[in-house]
Amino acid sequence: MLICTSSLKAEVLNIGILANKKVTSFIFSPQVGSYTIYTENGKLTEVSIEDIIQLTFSNNQIVLKSLDKDYGTFKKVKFIGTSWRNSFKIKTHQPEGKLTFYEDNLLVSINNYYNQLSLINNVDIDNYVAGVVESEVGRSPPPEYFKLQAIICRTYALKNIDRHQAEGFSLCDQVHCQAYNGQPKSNVIKNAAIETKNVVIVDSDINLITATFYSNCGGQTANSEDVWSQNLYYLRSVTDTFCIKENNAIWTKKIAKTDWINYLTNKYNFPKLETYEECGLDYFQCRREQLFENQNIKIPLIDLRKDWNLKSALFDVITMDDDIILQGKGYGHGVGLCQEGAMRMAKLGYSYAEILHFYYKNVHMIDLHALDFFKEDF
Ligand SMILES: [Zn+2]
Ligand SMILES: [Zn+2]
Repeated sequence: MLICTSSLKAEVLNIGILANKKVTSFIFSPQVGSYTIYTENGKLTEVSIEDIIQLTFSNNQIVLKSLDKDYGTFKKVKFIGTSWRNSFKIKTHQPEGKLTFYEDNLLVSINNYYNQLSLINNVDIDNYVAGVVESEVGRSPPPEYFKLQAIICRTYALKNIDRHQAEGFSLCDQVHCQAYNGQPKSNVIKNAAIETKNVVIVDSDINLITATFYSNCGGQTANSEDVWSQNLYYLRSVTDTFCIKENNAIWTKKIAKTDWINYLTNKYNFPKLETYEECGLDYFQCRREQLFENQNIKIPLIDLRKDWNLKSALFDVITMDDDIILQGKGYGHGVGLCQEGAMRMAKLGYSYAEILHFYYKNVHMIDLHALDFFKEDF
C-alpha cells in the first residue's frame, strides 16, 4: 500500500485533479488490481474490477453508493489500492465528462468554499512523471527525448512540491504546475520514466534546479535574469542551431501602424512627432535583448510580448505603409530547455545527458535519494 508523504524524497505525490471541472458527481471503478474504501470512520468495503461506485456532493457531504447498495454519507472517502499494481477509471457525471484513467490511489473530500468534490490522485512519482510527459509533449517525440522530459518533470515536481500545500495537495493537474491527464497510453513513455527512475537535476549546491522549458528559442536561448528577476547561473543564453528549422522557429504578426504608435506613445510616452516621422520603428533585434529602446525610453520586451500576445520577445519590426510587421523567432520565454531543439538533438542521436548539459549549464544529475545524504553533511 502506498502512503501519503510530502518530504523531498517523496516517491508518492498528491496531485489535485479535475478541480477546474467543478465536479459534484462521478463514478469510480477499478481498472487493474483491487481497492479498499476507507472513510473517516475507518475501513468500509472492498471493490474490484467491474464494481462501480458513485460519489455525489450533497449538503456538504459525500453520498456514496454502489449499483445495489447505499453506503451512507461521509466527509472523506479514500480508495486505496491493495494489489501490486492498481489503476482506476473515473467518469464525471456533473458535469458530464469523459472516462479518464489514473494509477494508484484516489482521495476524495469536500471543498466547502466551491461546493464541489475535491479529488486527489495519490500517485507513485514515476507514474505521475509518465502521465505528465505524455500530457505535455504527446507521443511523437523520439524515445530519448521522453527520458530527458521525464527527468525535467520529476525535478520540477519535487522543486514545487509545496505549491498547493494550503489546498491539501502538492501540485495541480493544470499547466499552472504541469499538465497531467492521468495514465499515459504510450509504453515508451512509461519506460522512459522507469529507466530514469529517481534521476533529478541539481545545481552546484546540490539544490534541485528550476528546470524551465518552452517550445522553441528561435536560435538563441535567454538568460534567466533577462526574463525574470532571478539570475540562475545554469540558465545562460546559448546559441541553438538545432531548432531553427522546426515548427515554431519563426512567426509574424501584422499590426495597424496607428495602433502600434498609439500604444507606444500612450503607454510609454514615446515621442509622438518623431514616432510618426521616423516611425520609431527602425528597430532590429538581432539577438536576445531585454529592451525595446528609443532614446531614453526603454520598454521591456517581455511587456511587449504580454501586451500584444506575441509568441516570443525576440522579433524585428518592419515598417509598411499602413501596418507594421513584427517578424519573430521562437515560441515561449526562451529560458532553459528548447523543446524543439532538444527533440531534434534526440533525433540526431544525442543522449539525454548531452542534450540536458547543452541547455542547462554546469548542472548534475543525481539520484534523488542522494539529496538527503548531501544535506546531512551540512
Ligand atoms: Zn498548480
Ligand atoms: Zn532552440
